[in-house]
Amino acid sequence: MTDAAVLDALRNRTSQLLMSAACQRIDFHWGHNHIDGSAFSFIALSLITKPKGQHGIAFVVKPQPPNVGASYDPSTNTVEFPTGSFGTSDAWEKMSIIHEMTHAVIDATTPRGSLRAVHDELSAYTAGALFNIYSAANQAAGPYPYTAAPNTIYSAAHAVAQSIQASPGTAIDPKTASPLRLAILASPTYTYLHAHPNYAYGNNGVSL
Ligand SMILES: [Zn+2]
Repeated sequence: MTDAAVLDALRNRTSQLLMSAACQRIDFHWGHNHIDGSAFSFIALSLITKPKGQHGIAFVVKPQPPNVGASYDPSTNTVEFPTGSFGTSDAWEKMSIIHEMTHAVIDATTPRGSLRAVHDELSAYTAGALFNIYSAANQAAGPYPYTAAPNTIYSAAHAVAQSIQASPGTAIDPKTASPLRLAILASPTYTYLHAHPNYAYGNNGVSL
């Protein structure tokens, strides 16, 4: 069991990231998903309610598989982090938290199984990349806190995010999203999605 104080610190850190100016500026549509600041605010509230009862989102500290920063289970509304200090300063870790919290937003706001899992991932990577861009002093030119290596999911997500960062509320064009969708399906992290393209995560809501 992880010390309650460690989980509290993780919860507070995540809440601050969700309510930060950079996260609150995120606003885009992809399929049924609308990812924006008020949805992230709902998730921040759900972090507060959990310790007081059965509702909300639970945190667990547990080693993660290779290529996985953190993970979110929509059936139990549980986020797993590899360490209690995750997201303290590292830019990639902060992006990973926004990624997982985007899965929580989708769990909270979309009808069950309404989208293939690859689209949930596409939204989550785009939200993480937008957070990285909005964290920079110069959104159009950078430098950005996290610099993606070329030909990775992160570089593909950065390209999508860069194309929409100045147009809040935009619906991402499938043509714009296509390289990111292909990068996700080509990644060793998502071999299951590649083999099972119709697979949908068990999104079933988050109650406060
Ligand atoms: Zn994901």
